Amino acid sequence: MTTPVTIVGAGLGGLTLARVLHVHGIPATIYELDASPEARTQGGMLDIHDYNGQVALKAAGLFDEFRKIIHPGGEATRILDKHGTVHTDETDEGDGTRPEVDRGQLRQLLLDSLPAGTIRWGSKVTGVRENRELTFADGSTVTAGVLVGADGAWSRVRPLLSAAKPAYAGMSFVEVDLLDADTRHPGPARTVGGGMLFALGPGNGFLAHRETDGSLHIYIALTKPADWIDSVDWADTAKAKAVLADEFHDWAPEFHALFAEADRALVARAINALPIDHRWARVPGVTLVGDAAHVMSPFAGEGANLAMLDGARLGEALAAHPGDVEKALATYEAELFPRSAEAAGEAARNLALCFDENAPHSLLDQFAAYEQA
Ligand SMILES: Cc1cc2nc3c(=O)[nH]c(=O)nc-3n(C[C@H](O)[C@H](O)[C@H](O)COP(=O)(O)OP(=O)(O)OC[C@H]3O[C@@H](n4cnc5c(N)ncnc54)[C@H](O)[C@@H]3O)c2cc1C
Repeated sequence: MTTPVTIVGAGLGGLTLARVLHVHGIPATIYELDASPEARTQGGMLDIHDYNGQVALKAAGLFDEFRKIIHPGGEATRILDKHGTVHTDETDEGDGTRPEVDRGQLRQLLLDSLPAGTIRWGSKVTGVRENRELTFADGSTVTAGVLVGADGAWSRVRPLLSAAKPAYAGMSFVEVDLLDADTRHPGPARTVGGGMLFALGPGNGFLAHRETDGSLHIYIALTKPADWIDSVDWADTAKAKAVLADEFHDWAPEFHALFAEADRALVARAINALPIDHRWARVPGVTLVGDAAHVMSPFAGEGANLAMLDGARLGEALAAHPGDVEKALATYEAELFPRSAEAAGEAARNLALCFDENAPHSLLDQFAAYEQA
């Protein structure tokens, strides 16, 4: 008999798991704290890799639909130094193995693929007990058969399996949006180009994407102590821009335009990571997917891809071992742990390499090595 699966979190990991279970006829319920699918903007471009994210979409039976939402040209890449010197300016010929999609569109694809009622919106899990009983913010409870934590970096389910907590990775991001860039922000539009920009210097830099709606989404990366974000009043946009102008005082003026022209309030976030080799001993009926299992800095570009692959692999394992949940979970975790550790190691190495004393040359050397391999 198949045990119903209870999933906490409707991110890309939880949604992919629910979809793959549905494909195999296994019932699942997702409890999600957001009040509705529209509760939060899901901005940002994701490149979906042929060795993980695309594999998951194939397992979910959604690969053809995915091909329809690819952002043509999105794989274009520019690498600049702090003086504005262009070291790489590659266009996207549409033949790459890492096509880009809008995160919101990808999520919508998954949402539309689930039976009505699969997701219980507005269900914030506040506590989880060893008997797999979930408590919600409204005081109600549910006891799960199979319980999967797909609830991101600060997972409420993870403490059942592991005492590990994400730690500050030494870097803070400030996020900026420039809307209708070609018309309203022609300078930044030229600086970013048609896809991805890496403008890197020792300790800090700019990572930016052109989005499908013609806006630019910019991550300003700064090596800072953990308490730096709270030392700035981000609600005072003029003051926050002045702080950034000071931090980037020796960068070329075109980079200052990337934050000076911001259309919305600046949003700061700390980059956190679990230990690279995070793993746990088998606990009956419980496991994790995605960031809950292996949150890492975004510098491997793998977090969303891995979350989807985790969801797909777990769904397949549960389908392959009907009536033997423990075998399914053990099989899934035996692949999960080394896969996560490899990507988390790469993320940590890339973070160091992108912002080392030679920036951007260490990244350029790495890209050159990939091309020769
Ligand atoms: C700045 C930045 C850039 C990134 N860029 C990339 C990239 O280019 N490529 C890439 O592959 N990855 C990237 N990532 C990583 C990627 O965003 C994550 O790895 C991915 O979103 C993880 O998916 P998930 O489903 O595991 O978790 P999440 O997306 O975090 O989803 C968790 C879900 O659980 C819900 N939830 C949380 N707590 C509770 C609760 N108590 N009760 C109920 N529901 C709850 C949340 O509301 C959310 O919907 C980036 C990350 C950051 C921070």
